[in-house]
Amino acid sequence: MYPIDRILDEVDRATDEIIEYTRALVRIPTVNPPGDAYEDCARFIGEDLRARGYEVEYIAAEGRPEHSPRYPRLNVVGMRRGGPGAVVHLNGHFDVVPAGGGWTVDPFAGVLRDGRIIGRGVCDMKAGIAAAVFAGEALARAGVALPGTLEFSGTVDEESGGFAGVAYLAETKRIAAGRTDFVIIPEPLDVDRICVGHRGVYWCEVTARGRIAHGSMPFLGASAIDGVGRLLQAVREELMPVLASRQTAVPVVPPGARHATININGIEGGQPIDGIQTPCVADLCRVILDRRFLLEEGFDAAKAELQALVRRAEAASPGIAFDVRDLMVVHPTRTPDDSPVIGALDASIRRVLGRRPELIASPGTYDHKHVARIAGVPHCVAYGPGELELAHQPDESCRVEDLVNATKVLALAALDLMAAAR
Ligand SMILES: [Zn+2]
Repeated sequence: MYPIDRILDEVDRATDEIIEYTRALVRIPTVNPPGDAYEDCARFIGEDLRARGYEVEYIAAEGRPEHSPRYPRLNVVGMRRGGPGAVVHLNGHFDVVPAGGGWTVDPFAGVLRDGRIIGRGVCDMKAGIAAAVFAGEALARAGVALPGTLEFSGTVDEESGGFAGVAYLAETKRIAAGRTDFVIIPEPLDVDRICVGHRGVYWCEVTARGRIAHGSMPFLGASAIDGVGRLLQAVREELMPVLASRQTAVPVVPPGARHATININGIEGGQPIDGIQTPCVADLCRVILDRRFLLEEGFDAAKAELQALVRRAEAASPGIAFDVRDLMVVHPTRTPDDSPVIGALDASIRRVLGRRPELIASPGTYDHKHVARIAGVPHCVAYGPGELELAHQPDESCRVEDLVNATKVLALAALDLMAAAR
């Protein structure tokens, strides 16, 4: 039997160290875009892991266009081998979104106030990284001989798609089926909720091409803006009600995101507003659509439905040609209900918090997709400290109490999973 109480005590005893580690991470301004200070942060995490007895490798995203001498995309992976049990991989992205306005404290000072650590990226997700690192540390300090292998990776670019980060580790087989058994990503989804996946994402650009003419005689041209207007009207009047009527069985939060949705992300047409105007009928108009689709819909059907809508707008717009270009597709993912990673976290949350966790899915998307789709590891969830609503906000913060509790949960769950036979 494992010394559970001793492990929990070790986490409590390490509280100040966990806080200081989180604050130190916040002080490394890993802002994305453009990808500042990634190397500093990777080295900070890597050297710390090495000092804690991990084998450490640094993996630069060679060949990715965003990996440049000015903005190197450097990931770090630490591994501690134990017995022949399972390989448990904890992953945290260390990039953060820009601070933006509205802060009452310096977003990169790592302020500690009223039981919270405040700063950009505390919640999403440097507190999660600290929880993962100290979960492993508590096991070591409690004298636990690891029954399997514990890994931690600190990765880049989650906020911009994760292609040089987790996707890169999956493509290069550093995270892979057969090598990696269980993955937990400590994203901020509340300390008593387990996130089992996310909806799908389909971004496309629709271009309408018409015919230029003198603006005083618009009937001699064909306005691409009118064409896009007709398309957007169809989106609003035909597509949106249909999407709102569809509901997924996946427990997406908040409840509004349990339906399929579409957002008009951007629109550009005719003459630049701030330029000198000459009277012309717009011959070009482009719009970016962000369609979030449900597991039950599937990508092919979502795309076909949108294309049919575009064709109808085209048919109703003489002289206008429409073209659809895919920009990004992320397929929905869902962890199998009977996955041991859900069971282990469920039991650990009950033990630490004394309450039953809720299973949820994310309205957006996160690195889970790369683990499931590219690495082929189905046993992946997100679980970590921090409140989802505070991510990307001014005065982003994380409760110290949540940070400590999540560290305990991760320690017990990782131990439980490593004990599984391979
Ligand atoms: Zn995140």
